[in-house]
Amino acid sequence: MDRKLIFKNKIISELDKKGFRNSPKRNAIISAFVSSNKHLNADELYAIAKKIKAGIGFVTVYRTLKLLVKYGFAREVDFKDGFTRYEINDEPSVQHDHLICIRCGSVIEFKDAEIERLKDKASRDTGFAPIFHRLEIFGICKHCSKKKAKLG
Ligand SMILES: [Zn+2]
Ligand SMILES: [Zn+2]
Repeated sequence: MDRKLIFKNKIISELDKKGFRNSPKRNAIISAFVSSNKHLNADELYAIAKKIKAGIGFVTVYRTLKLLVKYGFAREVDFKDGFTRYEINDEPSVQHDHLICIRCGSVIEFKDAEIERLKDKASRDTGFAPIFHRLEIFGICKHCSKKKAKLG
């Protein structure tokens, strides 16, 4: 089975166990979110979800996203473009981080085991129990640097 489908089914069954009854609308939102695989804000997800299933309201989309974050199925990311964005969190053990271009808004994802090691060390040294981390690095992407060089 496809990994996204497995993850979607896992979310739905675990929410069900927590007492959130299976709802066709919520399932459609979760499905749209998991299969998009992007950093969507609530408006963008709403636009996709209502195409899949008629009658979905923005509030339901918003609440579903908050629910997914609360139970660790999604995480919030902030690329300083005025929106809270969300992404699926299907591999919490190998978390990725973000490089964000402040010119074109492109987002590059990267993973580095060294960051995990630093996080573990800092936590150990201070007796801290980490749950998740967020690292967003802002700057100018390769593409935009080239463009600027040409103009100047
Ligand atoms: Zn750029
Ligand atoms: Zn990401």
